[in-house]
Amino acid sequence: MQVPLSRDASKWQAIAREYADEYLQPHEVEAELNDGVLPEDITARNKERAIDLGFTAIDVPKSHGGLELPMESQVAIWEQLGRVTNALSWCFPEAQSWMFDACSADQIDKYILPMVRGEHKDCYAITESGPGSDISGLEATAVRDGDEYVLNGEKWYVTSGNLASFFWFQANLPDEDDEALFLVDQGTDGIEIIANPKFSHTYASHHPTYLFRDVRVPVAQRVGRPGDGMSFTHSWFRHERLMIGARSCGAAARLIEEAMAFAQGRIVDGAPLSEKQAIQFMLADSVTELYASRLMTYEAARAADRGDDVKAQHSRCSMVKLYVSEMANRVADRAVQIFGGRGYMRENVAERFFRELRVDRIWEGTSEIQRLIIARSLLKRGLDGI
Ligand SMILES: Cc1cc2nc3c(=O)[nH]c(=O)nc-3n(C[C@H](O)[C@H](O)[C@H](O)COP(=O)(O)OP(=O)(O)OC[C@H]3O[C@@H](n4cnc5c(N)ncnc54)[C@H](O)[C@@H]3O)c2cc1C
Repeated sequence: MQVPLSRDASKWQAIAREYADEYLQPHEVEAELNDGVLPEDITARNKERAIDLGFTAIDVPKSHGGLELPMESQVAIWEQLGRVTNALSWCFPEAQSWMFDACSADQIDKYILPMVRGEHKDCYAITESGPGSDISGLEATAVRDGDEYVLNGEKWYVTSGNLASFFWFQANLPDEDDEALFLVDQGTDGIEIIANPKFSHTYASHHPTYLFRDVRVPVAQRVGRPGDGMSFTHSWFRHERLMIGARSCGAAARLIEEAMAFAQGRIVDGAPLSEKQAIQFMLADSVTELYASRLMTYEAARAADRGDDVKAQHSRCSMVKLYVSEMANRVADRAVQIFGGRGYMRENVAERFFRELRVDRIWEGTSEIQRLIIARSLLKRGLDGI
């Protein structure tokens, strides 16, 4: 069950599928049983292959040597990478097109292009212990002192903090009555990990809590002008929410295939489990919801390629994130049920996805926050405006 794709998207879909099947999927259980970590040579090989295939350059403008793929093709890639558990597809860094608009020429040379070459990895520090969903209430500060800013604040859940070479750090500018985004090198004096909690999934990427205490960065590390930071973060959100939709479609497809294959081979009462109507209904509901999810995810990608109004794109990315992440959670729950006790084993893909997909309803804005965005947009712009 496919939705029609452009020739370019079909080509990239096949490339990404082959990569996911040959390089990543065979290592899932090994990663699961080793705290998400694979042997160094395997991680290096997977990263190198991803760079060779061009994955680090898919959203990079051609003017900077990138592939500048249409969003439809990028979604086709991330859908296939989403078939794999344990975040094994995070083995390569992702430079995004908005970064080239946001950053100065020096920042692009120092931070963004090295990501395209696979030399740097980034992490995003927005969330705090107080304001979580409500990012308008952030308390971290950046105070100007001559040619430097002095950063202070506590940042929670900084994904890939243990692997990243630099942070995107969102802060208020109390003296300038504004806010801004900063690029901050790992290891700068005053940055400290104050907690490194364990989470439900088994990933090599951790989500530490960082304390920034009087961290000094040159003014040149500010991204854009005061007041631009939040709009860059919104660009990041749109991209991530769409790609959560893409990955959730891939995860759901894999779960349906695996649960179906199991049900066809498992004999109960002298007949394949797949002949039981209760099981068929679970598969039918799952594939129907996947069909709807694929249609809306690819349509939202094409809306970006068409250059539809950005506010409409913003609410559509929220709809994709909301619906498709919740769809994938329902599919994972049914898959565990179809596998029975086997579906509760960590070696089983359904068990891993059942845990891993849960966070897609929380990060990059919870389902409730997506509903608020969609409702506010609907009330403001009407049905034809979103
Ligand atoms: C594994 C993981 C990785 C993460 N990675 C990053 C990262 O790399 N960088 C980063 O900055 N952040 C990251 N986050 C943070 C994530 O984006 C936040 O957890 C999320 O935005 C929710 O914030 P919160 O946890 O403070 O929950 P809260 O804001 O406290 O929300 C708690 C509950 O209240 C609901 N709620 C809140 N406000 C409203 C409202 N107005 N109306 C109705 N319901 C509401 C929420 O939906 C939720 O159900 C990560 C989180 C996790 C779990």
